[in-house]
Amino acid sequence: MNNTVDVIVQQKINEQLFQKLELAYFCVDHSMRVKDASDNLIDYGYEPIRPGSDIEDHIDFMIGLDSHTELDLPIVASPSGIPISVSLLPSENQLTVLIVNASTQADQRQLLQQKANENELLVFQQKKLMVQLEQASLELEKKNMQLEEASRLQTSFLSGVSHEFRTPLTSIIGYTNLVKQDLQKVSQELVPRIVGNDDSPNYLRAVQRSSKHLLSLVENLLDHGKLDSNEIVIRPKATNILEVFEDVELLLKPLSNTKQVELRANIDLPPKALAVLDDSRLRQCLINLVGNAVKFTDIGSVTLDASLTGEVLHVTVEDTGPGISQQDLEKIRLPFWQGSDTGKAGTGLGLTITERLVELMGGELLIKSELGKGTVVEFELPAPLVYLDEPANSLEGIPVKPLRILLAEDDTDIADLVCMMLIERGIEVDRVENGALAVEALKKGRYDLVLMDIHMPIMTGYDALAELNARGDTTPVVVMSASAVDADKAKAIELGCRGYLVKPVDVDDIIGMAGQVLS
Ligand code: ADP
Repeated sequence: MNNTVDVIVQQKINEQLFQKLELAYFCVDHSMRVKDASDNLIDYGYEPIRPGSDIEDHIDFMIGLDSHTELDLPIVASPSGIPISVSLLPSENQLTVLIVNASTQADQRQLLQQKANENELLVFQQKKLMVQLEQASLELEKKNMQLEEASRLQTSFLSGVSHEFRTPLTSIIGYTNLVKQDLQKVSQELVPRIVGNDDSPNYLRAVQRSSKHLLSLVENLLDHGKLDSNEIVIRPKATNILEVFEDVELLLKPLSNTKQVELRANIDLPPKALAVLDDSRLRQCLINLVGNAVKFTDIGSVTLDASLTGEVLHVTVEDTGPGISQQDLEKIRLPFWQGSDTGKAGTGLGLTITERLVELMGGELLIKSELGKGTVVEFELPAPLVYLDEPANSLEGIPVKPLRILLAEDDTDIADLVCMMLIERGIEVDRVENGALAVEALKKGRYDLVLMDIHMPIMTGYDALAELNARGDTTPVVVMSASAVDADKAKAIELGCRGYLVKPVDVDDIIGMAGQVLS
């Protein structure tokens, strides 16, 4: 490239650059007098500048600056409001000042600033949300604790209520049994006429059935408290399943007789078959299901089918009642849910508990229903069969006879009842009404077994167990309590009790347990 071309190119580049950057300039001497100024300064809102004039009269950002210092001013605003960037370039004779349009830069800076502001705002909001979240979580924790407390109170209330119910029910069921046995003897020996073909008068059986029904309701209440905490325990034992079904039929027949409902029971079970099942839980499920079928059916029939195939028990409860809508079928298993227009009393717990119990026993509860057509509920349970020559509850093999039992029970009715039942079976019984007296009695005499209530005045059964442990007394103690709460049982076992019976108990339960403990 020759020089001429060079100069032209240089000029072109300068022009382009000047245009692109919108470059304006002025030069001043070292006394700040204008030497030269570009015309396009007016594009930035500056008035035309006369050479020789004082630059501070024209351009305000020059006020106070000196002509020897090289300087880049941060973006400033020109008189017409355009952001400009200014560079002061001193040389020997003059100071050249370059002005460049910095709108893009300013925009970017503003954008950056805006982003920074937004960021700060976000951080602030985030912090605020964190504080709110923390507060909410504290609130939630507090609410949770309140709920837990409420649920604990509910459970303890329910177990308390259930406990209170069990004690009188023990008396009712036990005494009715005794009276029934007495009357059976009298009727067989003396006056068969007064009781007709039946073994015992109907009214006594009605009292017994009602008490058992009441007991199953109490059991539902107690179990609801245990549902969440997985505290329900299944206790399988050799059970005559036919008896369980017959019991349920007898229990619910009177209710069906009060309406135009025929209760049919097709129980195809071997009479002496013993299966390993929790009889009281099975009974509870059946009472809930057959009870519902009878309760909700006003006209028609309720059919209870039971059969054994191999070692599986099949149960179906079918009714011709009002049926359940598809919508309601989805809610029916929720605790406390009840159909709105049934007009029947209830707690809304029966199905919830039955479903859980069936599951715990290894089955599944199936409910089929159609509005206006009736309901079918069915389940199957594993029922391993056992073959025993002798009844399960037997004292056979116990070496020391006659058996001497010390009964510690503060409820006089129950103490009378248990004494009567045991004495009738040839067992010697001494009774005391609190734990302290039990400990005293054991110091003085020898007993094969102690039957000990837990909640007693002066000294509880727990304290008595602890005292006996401390004294090294090895007389086996069987606790007989109205509390079915597992924690109570665990505590008693920890204190060394050898067996735990939940009231109401009958004489066979006591003898069976004594047999287990003493053999
Ligand atoms: P409860 O019977 O105490 O109300 P359940 O849990 O046993 O509580 O039943 C819940 C609801 O399911 C009942 O209120 C009723 O609406 C409905 N239900 C249960 N069994 C039947 C049935 N056999 N026929 C019609 N409705 C039923």
